[in-house]
Amino acid sequence: MLYCLNCRLLVEGSLCPVCGSKKLRQPEQTDYCFLTEQNTIWAGALEELLRQDGVAVVTQNVLGAGLAARIGPAQEKVRFYVPFSDFEKALEVKKEFAAE
Ligand SMILES: [Zn+2]
Repeated sequence: MLYCLNCRLLVEGSLCPVCGSKKLRQPEQTDYCFLTEQNTIWAGALEELLRQDGVAVVTQNVLGAGLAARIGPAQEKVRFYVPFSDFEKALEVKKEFAAE
């Protein structure tokens, strides 16, 4: 498993599937890794579950507040990033969340 610094993505293989970068490196414990993208409707609940499990999650709105206000907040999506050290745990939480 390698890490793309551009996309903050854990990558299988030697090429990032998102940006095509080959400049991948071994993930460090403190690297923030892309976990998932959720509609705002679900994002709050997932964030809470992750925090309950002690995952230091960071979220980023894809559109940003200005654009979301114009085209409607229902279109807004939230990206979740978690430290590599918490990634496995976060995946489990995400799986349980999706199964509900
Ligand atoms: Zn990339």
